[in-house]
Amino acid sequence: MRDLQALPKAHLHLHFTGSMRVSTLKDMAQSQGIRLPENLTDNTALQVPADQRGWFRFQRAYDAARKVVRSEEAMRRIVREAAEDEAREGSKRLEIQIDPTSYAPFVGGITPALEIVLDEATLASRDTGVQVAIVVAASRLKHPLDARILARLAAKHAGEGAGQVVGFGLSNDERRGNTPEWAGAFDIARKAGLASVPHGGELLGPEHIRDIVTALKPRRLGHGVRAAEDPALLEYIVDNGIALEVCPASNVQLGVYNSLGDVPLRTLLKAGAQIALGADDPLLFLSRLTDQYENARKLGLDDYEISLLAHSSISASLASPSDKERWHDEIDAWLAAPDPVSDPASDPEPDPHAA
Ligand SMILES: [Zn+2]
Repeated sequence: MRDLQALPKAHLHLHFTGSMRVSTLKDMAQSQGIRLPENLTDNTALQVPADQRGWFRFQRAYDAARKVVRSEEAMRRIVREAAEDEAREGSKRLEIQIDPTSYAPFVGGITPALEIVLDEATLASRDTGVQVAIVVAASRLKHPLDARILARLAAKHAGEGAGQVVGFGLSNDERRGNTPEWAGAFDIARKAGLASVPHGGELLGPEHIRDIVTALKPRRLGHGVRAAEDPALLEYIVDNGIALEVCPASNVQLGVYNSLGDVPLRTLLKAGAQIALGADDPLLFLSRLTDQYENARKLGLDDYEISLLAHSSISASLASPSDKERWHDEIDAWLAAPDPVSDPASDPEPDPHAA
């Protein structure tokens, strides 16, 4: 039972506003005289009865939280605190996603909105040691032509390291819009070297995942857990090296599965899927990255299997090969260290000279 907080890993599914600390949200709301809905600040996220969970409750809460983010200062604070929180959780690499359109009105447009985030990601990477890269995500609630504008903007900042755009996503309610209409935006992004990382396979099942795989040619699927319902599709995903950003707390909070034990992590692993566990929106689900690994442990995965999950998260990241190699070695070192629980001999003797 090694310390999961110390396990080196990559966090590949985290939303900008959703990454906020509850205390920061309260603080920002208070300073602007904005009243927040109680369910955003009362720490009861995990006690919501199964029949009251769901997308619309989530979307209302998310929109309310986003409304307090109305300045460059607020945007920088979110990126910085996300990096600090990741550092505490053993994250080596964070790929945080943002739709800059939401914040553009307060900072002079989508270009400055993205540049603020990229600049702060560079600074926060330097200060925390977590490599923070950006995924620009279009929204299913907006016109696909808006997505093309975003893809062109993202393309200008394409790279693989800290403070660069590494992927292009598609977020918001999976049930909205006609997936092939976003293919043009994803083509622009892919030609610039950005990985395709759209959401899919959480609220909707295999048929929708097939549409996304065909039209948007993903390198990773945001969620994709429901591929577990269709062995042929899952096999296709595994054979084509499409990684899955699995976010168990999100799945349960959105009512996709009744309990954490129902998330088909074992099925996906057995099929050979490349999985990166993610927290999605810790602000709303009150469950962070390490909690997802704790959950894997509760499902019966031992430290070796958990280390494979961490390796998998690094492999699925869009970091440089040399960075990945270094982090893989650090995971091996984590596993090679004595297990403090199963090996009592490894407990250091109390030092009689200690004060
Ligand atoms: Zn998400």
